[in-house]
Amino acid sequence: MSGYFKELISGTYSLAVGLGITIKYFTQPVVTMQYPMEHVKMTPRYRGHIELVRDEETGASKCIVCGMCQKSCPSGCITVAGKKPEGSKKKVLTTYRLDFTKCSLCGLCVESCKPGALDFSKDYNLASPRKEDYIFDLLKRLEEKS
Ligand code: SF4
Ligand code: SF4
Repeated sequence: MSGYFKELISGTYSLAVGLGITIKYFTQPVVTMQYPMEHVKMTPRYRGHIELVRDEETGASKCIVCGMCQKSCPSGCITVAGKKPEGSKKKVLTTYRLDFTKCSLCGLCVESCKPGALDFSKDYNLASPRKEDYIFDLLKRLEEKS
């Protein structure tokens, strides 16, 4: 008989604890998100795939086509190309291709870019079964963002 009362008290206690937790969280703001209808705001230190940074003065990429990012990438993900317009001493970026299937997000390319033309994007919604969806034309993406 004492076992019956012990179980009754223990059951009532755990029910009260459970209800207490439910009531506590019921009155607090909702922290879950309605994904994918709502999008998550990534933290400042989040590393998505790399992307080109725009020069706010000219509206073009900050890239000076030095090729350091391509050289520093241990996985060979980056292909950069540029050309010198007639009469100009500076190269203009014509191709910036990223093979994200090989990228380890090590950040060496971003660190090696002295003009600050590269940064990590906040993109996280990239699931696709097709490999070609992870080959990015970063110059085109920058132009599309304008
Ligand atoms: S290191 Fe920077 S400036 Fe040089 S090619 Fe790469 S993105 Fe352009
Ligand atoms: S983050 Fe690392 S692996 Fe990815 S492109 Fe840059 S250097 Fe290459």
